[in-house]
Amino acid sequence: MLRLTQISKRYGDHPALAPTDLRIERATTVVLVGPSGCGKSTLLRLIAGLVTPDSGTVHLDDTLITADNIQQLRQRMGYVIQEGGLFPHLSVQANVTLMARYLRRDRNWIDERLEQLMQLVHLPPDLLTRFPCELSGGQRQRVGLMRALMLDPELLLLDEPLGALDPMIRYQLQQELRAIFAQLGKTVVLVTHDLAEAAYLGHTLVLIKDGRIVQTGPFEALARRPAETFVQEFIHAQRGPLATLTGAAQ
Ligand code: ADP
Repeated sequence: MLRLTQISKRYGDHPALAPTDLRIERATTVVLVGPSGCGKSTLLRLIAGLVTPDSGTVHLDDTLITADNIQQLRQRMGYVIQEGGLFPHLSVQANVTLMARYLRRDRNWIDERLEQLMQLVHLPPDLLTRFPCELSGGQRQRVGLMRALMLDPELLLLDEPLGALDPMIRYQLQQELRAIFAQLGKTVVLVTHDLAEAAYLGHTLVLIKDGRIVQTGPFEALARRPAETFVQEFIHAQRGPLATLTGAAQ
């Protein structure tokens, strides 16, 4: 579905992403994980065509993504950013349906799709007329997801979608996201710095450090067969609260 070949990006003297190869198969959830500043969002933005690479190529199926076709191809991608990235001056309904109205989709189609998506993300209908500032963080994320899914894209890109939420809402939304990904069968690329979230949501994890992929595979492979000591360090840097009781936390 997605093929990245020797794709790289520098900001000034700083290499945000070293030349990188990555293949993402259809209907899988791939999680880009790693410490803050390692290049996860840069990689996601390169896939979305929001950042121009210094070298390398991205293919969506057999189509090379270029400056000329990215606008068209973006209709096949849904993009969710932290906090939802909603337009503050538009109601929930206007935010979700913006692109569909711009593309002059049929009114009935838009209404039906809106209804389906509200059910999918468990958003009560009375929230449709509210503005983003009148929503909780979790509700904003649900609306952001609805907006990304409105045109029924094949590829869903999510940049730290749950990063700003408190632990209990985050836990609940992780469960819902996993169910939604399984139900829709879409290709998903998600960025997080949280390894537990990555392991829970991802079929494949892509662990990045300093702009370089350290290891790619299911969480089990990273845990059982770490490619280098950083993988173990990253796994062990995640502290569960119960470890404090058992003395495992140092
Ligand atoms: P992550 O998502 O893993 O936290 P990013 O991909 O956002 O990391 O950033 C990777 C590196 O590139 C960081 O050092 C960051 O400061 C730098 N960077 C990202 N975007 C820009 C930008 N627009 N201008 C300059 N530097 C940037």
